[in-house]
Amino acid sequence: MNLTELDQQLLWHPFTQHQTMGLPLAIASAKGNYVYDYAGNSYLDLISSWWVNLHGHAHPAIAKAIYKQALRLEHVIFAGFTHAPAVQLCEMIVKELSNNLTRGFFSDNGSTSVEVAMKIAYQYWYNRKQSARKLFLSFSGGYHGDTFGAMSIGQKSGFHNVFTKLCFEVLFVPFPDLHTDNDTVELREQQALKVAEEHLSKHQYSIAAIIIEPLIQGAAGMKICRHSFIEQLIGLIRSKGILVIFDEVMTGFGRTGTTFAVQQLKVEPDLLCLSKGITGGFLPLGLTLATEEIYQTFLGSDLQVAFMHGHSYTANPLACAAGVKSWQLLQQSKTQQAIKIIETTHRQGIKILQENTNNCSNFRILGTIMAFEVNTTDPNFNQKFKQECLLQGILLRPLNNTIYLMPPYSVTAVELLSAYHKIAKIIELLR
Ligand SMILES: *Cc1c(COP(=O)(O)O)cnc(C)c1O
Repeated sequence: MNLTELDQQLLWHPFTQHQTMGLPLAIASAKGNYVYDYAGNSYLDLISSWWVNLHGHAHPAIAKAIYKQALRLEHVIFAGFTHAPAVQLCEMIVKELSNNLTRGFFSDNGSTSVEVAMKIAYQYWYNRKQSARKLFLSFSGGYHGDTFGAMSIGQKSGFHNVFTKLCFEVLFVPFPDLHTDNDTVELREQQALKVAEEHLSKHQYSIAAIIIEPLIQGAAGMKICRHSFIEQLIGLIRSKGILVIFDEVMTGFGRTGTTFAVQQLKVEPDLLCLSKGITGGFLPLGLTLATEEIYQTFLGSDLQVAFMHGHSYTANPLACAAGVKSWQLLQQSKTQQAIKIIETTHRQGIKILQENTNNCSNFRILGTIMAFEVNTTDPNFNQKFKQECLLQGILLRPLNNTIYLMPPYSVTAVELLSAYHKIAKIIELLR
């Protein structure tokens, strides 16, 4: 029995309707910007394998760092103990952010980094004898992960409708994305701010925090809003003394053109969530950063005042060592240059699509991320498009009819442009 047949007997895949989904593609190996199947076919990974890979697959420097670390210290309990890779990784990130975020709490993935931020926010108020603050504010459509807290703030994402009744109450603010209709963006921004103001006037002393994806909503369809809008909204929230959480699980580590999206904004969060690119796509790891002021609120003689949260693999040394090496690669000037080249190549890609298709719209770019919509009435467009891409040797995974590219930084302009030509052809083929 071959691998895919065995898989069908044994495994249950994420976000997959197994009745209608065909067999999964078995991947034998990966190198650089490509993954390879057992027949030797290559697939250019244009979505960084669910937004995690930064420097290409099986990068030897990261692989070596993990191997070296595994021979020295593979894991140790992180309560009461520490180790160099965790301290080093946290120090690098804290130094780069150079804002008020001075404390790092490790966990295992994006969802847990969000849970940690929300629990810290709630307990911050609890410790300050304001336990009435149990509401969270977030954007409609925002996606923050699949655990219950993350699902609750992401209720309007459409990913978790089955579980709505188990989710806690959250106050939502509309997300005025730029591309839906450029002419009305100011109006929609004003409306969003008005909704936020209404929530604040009704619930000011019941709200613990706002949690948002800064600048771009990922899973909602790569929706971008204006910097000035985020600054206005956060300014408003701050003026009421409510905590601000930025979920940079997707935007972190260079995706938006700067190392972190927050570096493009004139406002700062009290808590910041990281994961995905943190290890260069090698191992799962989450990191939640907090201000010193928040951290101080958890100090006291009573254990109950402390943050009673942790995971078995908290700050796993292998993951942290991968993170340190990936960070060093990210800081190299050639990587920074590559990030800029991806952005300019995306602009050329838009021209290719505009010249060779006539049912695409809303072209947008933020750093290394490019997205657009295909206007189609075919309910199976998404599935057909993915399949055609594989036949053409590219790995893409549109969100409904939103096609996006989020390549590793090691992708070359030649590879990207060739992919854009293939994408244009496939869109024409499916029309
Ligand atoms: C992917 C994602 C998460 C969840 O991360 P997981 O590692 O998949 O749990 C949270 N927030 C944002 C913005 C994400 O893109």
